Amino acid sequence: MLLFARPTVVTALVVILIIYPLASLSSTSMHVCENSSISIKSDELVDHNTICDSAEDALAFFGRLDIEHLHPLVIKIVRKLPGWMSETSVGCYRKEEQKIYMLAFPEFKKKEVWFDVPINRLMYSSLVAHEVAHAVASHNLSISEPTIHAQEYVAYVAMFIMMNPALRSRVLAENLGANFDSELEINEITYMLDPMRFGIAAYRHYLNKEHGDAFLLKVLSGNELTYSAQDLP
Ligand SMILES: [Zn+2]
Repeated sequence: MLLFARPTVVTALVVILIIYPLASLSSTSMHVCENSSISIKSDELVDHNTICDSAEDALAFFGRLDIEHLHPLVIKIVRKLPGWMSETSVGCYRKEEQKIYMLAFPEFKKKEVWFDVPINRLMYSSLVAHEVAHAVASHNLSISEPTIHAQEYVAYVAMFIMMNPALRSRVLAENLGANFDSELEINEITYMLDPMRFGIAAYRHYLNKEHGDAFLLKVLSGNELTYSAQDLP
C-alpha cells in the first residue's frame, strides 16, 4: 500500500494532456498487457502502455529470482479509491480479489509532490510497480501472515530498483537522512510514521552489499523481518 499525508491542490487534466499526447491515452473497460497476465480495467482515459510497462518492470525485477510467477492480476484504475481504503492511499493490492486499486494519474497529480519531488508520470509508473511488487510478494511470502514491514520492504526495494534513474537520484538527494541505523528500525512503527522515509531507507538497506537479494529472499521465505515492534527490547 502507498500512503501519503500532505495537502492537495486541484490540477486540471489539461496538464497531463500537455505532457502526454492525447493519442497515447485511451479508455477501454479492459485492456490486456501484451507481455504478461496483467489486465488494466478502467473507465477513465489511461495510458495503458505505460501502466503495462511499469507493471512488467516489477515482474522483471522478480524474474531474476527463483520464485513463483505471478497469477493473473487486474489493475483497476479509479478516480476515487474504495471506501475501505485509507484516504491517504494512492494504491493498494487486494489479495482476495487478485486486484490492484490505483488512483488515476490526474488524481495522484493533485498531491503535487511525492518523496519531496514534483509528481510526474515517471513517479506514477513507480507506484504501479510498487503495487505489482506487493502482488508478486504475496504469492511468494512463505509465511501466512507476513509483517507489514516485510511486505513494504519488498515492494519499496522493487520500486526503487526499477525507478527511472534520474528520478531516483533526485529522490535520494532530497532525502539524504533516510536510513536505518539498525535493522530493528525496519518495523511497522517506522513504516506507519513515515512510509516514504521507510521506503527510501529500505532501498538503501538493500543496496548494502551485505544485504541485497540474499536478504530479500530471506524476507520472502519468512526468515527476516518477522518480528513486531512491540517485541523489540
Ligand atoms: Zn506498499
